[in-house]
Amino acid sequence: MKIHEYQGRDLLASYGVPVPAASVIESIEDAATTYKRVTSEAGTDLAVIKAQVHAGGRGKAGFVKLVRSPEEATEAAKFMLSNKMVSVQTGPDGLEVTKLLVAAGVDIAHEYYLAITTDRATRKNVLIASAEGGVEIEKVAEENPDAIIKTPIHPLIGLQPHQAREVAFRLGFKGKQVGQAVKAMMALSQLFVEKDCSLAEINPLIVTPSTGDAPDGQVLAIDAKFTFDDNATFRHKDIAGLFDPAEENPAELRAQRFGLSYIALDGNIGCLVNGAGLAMATMDTIKHYGGEPANFLDVGGSATEEAVTEAFRIILSDHAVKGIMVNIFGGIMDCAVIAQGIVNAAKEVGFKVPLVVRLEGNNVEAGRAILKEASASLSTLQAAEDLADAGEKVVKAVG
Ligand code: GDP
Ligand code: MN
Repeated sequence: MKIHEYQGRDLLASYGVPVPAASVIESIEDAATTYKRVTSEAGTDLAVIKAQVHAGGRGKAGFVKLVRSPEEATEAAKFMLSNKMVSVQTGPDGLEVTKLLVAAGVDIAHEYYLAITTDRATRKNVLIASAEGGVEIEKVAEENPDAIIKTPIHPLIGLQPHQAREVAFRLGFKGKQVGQAVKAMMALSQLFVEKDCSLAEINPLIVTPSTGDAPDGQVLAIDAKFTFDDNATFRHKDIAGLFDPAEENPAELRAQRFGLSYIALDGNIGCLVNGAGLAMATMDTIKHYGGEPANFLDVGGSATEEAVTEAFRIILSDHAVKGIMVNIFGGIMDCAVIAQGIVNAAKEVGFKVPLVVRLEGNNVEAGRAILKEASASLSTLQAAEDLADAGEKVVKAVG
């Protein structure tokens, strides 16, 4: 599960990592007044308007804008709320933006990268840090991997202060900055473990220029990105409460509610299958005969008629679907349940597209009998002998 930057900033602040003051808006009209309030409280005229979406690369896409007046704030808000954001992380269709962060702007002397994630190779969590943080971090990782410091974290004792200090020195922090950077790393590590994160990232962590009050500048987080382990959100009500359904694929959300695993893909053949392995084999078979699957939908081992009907509704809600292949190997799953689900869906939504069904296993005779009896209302139905036959038939049917 991902959260928004503004939520991540609050989380960082609650662990003692300083972040500039900010406010969330959802309308262009609120931009000017919020700009005035946030900047006057911070004693600056600089603010940053930032699109709140579950994807990075906003800076390069023009969805992080520095502004110095209410007019500029309004203009930036207008642009971001009326255009889809397309970045390297969003795919070509981009994402709609409905929330903006209006943050007090800060002057930056240097940008650092700081993250914790799990390193599968060493089977440990790892602190990743770089003195070359900012919007080019992917390029740095690719072209200059030596500029990235990786520190393994002991699974029992966690990140140790001496490790954080060493990283801070290697990053080039000076004077009072060292303690502040160490504090940020220790806090990030504590947060990572306590909240069951799979990624906790601050990019950039910055140092502000030297001032009279703070000759060494100040270490601040000005971006925050968190991903949480879905299998652990049940024990973090606070984190689960940050879930934003608007950022999820609506069909995938509906599927989740019925205990279905649904993933939308780019092709035009909808698949309804039981078991992830069988779903893979089904997609391979479709591709083997020259077709492209429109989705991966696993109804699982013990779906109800209701869930199967919902599964068809979800598949048919994708207008790219030009044919459906049902491939059920009934072990625990009762073939009659699937057959009844097909009949229900046919009554309710109708199948205007070709439907190829391969049923095998538990109670298959009853399943076939149900389909046969309903065949008058299922004119697009074709029964298949086996997996290969089903793949061939459905690809042929969609042309
Ligand atoms: P991302 O591109 O989605 O990761 O968005 P970020 O929040 O990291 O912002 C991108 C870049 O905008 C940062 O790397 C900074 O260079 C710049 N930026 C963001 N906030 C400020 C700010 O308050 N002051 C200044 N000077 N630059 C900022
Ligand atoms: Mn960033």
